[in-house]
Amino acid sequence: MTEQPIVRRNAVNSGKHPLGVQERRSLDYGGTYICPVCRHGQISTLPLMDAFACNFCRHIFTADLRNQTVRVEDSSQPVTWRWNGRGWQGAATHVDVDLRIIIWLIGTALVTLPPGLIWLSSHTFPPMRGSAWYWFPTVWVCLAFLSHFLFVAWLFVEHYQVPFYITCKIRLQDWLGRR
Ligand SMILES: [Zn+2]
Repeated sequence: MTEQPIVRRNAVNSGKHPLGVQERRSLDYGGTYICPVCRHGQISTLPLMDAFACNFCRHIFTADLRNQTVRVEDSSQPVTWRWNGRGWQGAATHVDVDLRIIIWLIGTALVTLPPGLIWLSSHTFPPMRGSAWYWFPTVWVCLAFLSHFLFVAWLFVEHYQVPFYITCKIRLQDWLGRR
């Protein structure tokens, strides 16, 4: 909560109206823009470098001014965004599309296969009705599904760099660092 006024002031200084009323402007090294990763901080040029850095999530970006794009450099995924004059648009490449299909396939398999196998075995060899451990396979299937789902969900928000997740992660790191 204490960061809000500072962010507002930065937003006004960078020519961005707090209510979102802003003129179209092109991407150049002199400007300050909202960060495409965390959607919370501002990116501006690093001194003596043709690169942008965010004042909140600390990601580093290189810019292609001719195509009006920036690319995040310190991430496992070199994601690119296009500046349309007011905001950022994700610019997908062919490599990203292929990788996305593979990630979705693996994700689906990871979530469905383990609980499916446990369910199948408990269905094929059901525990005796009325026995003390009759409930166990159902709980085990639910646990397997939940744990795998959480794991895959975490991989997905990391891969897509979901702004809400990134903001939460940085807040948590700040909070842990302050203790
Ligand atoms: Zn950022």
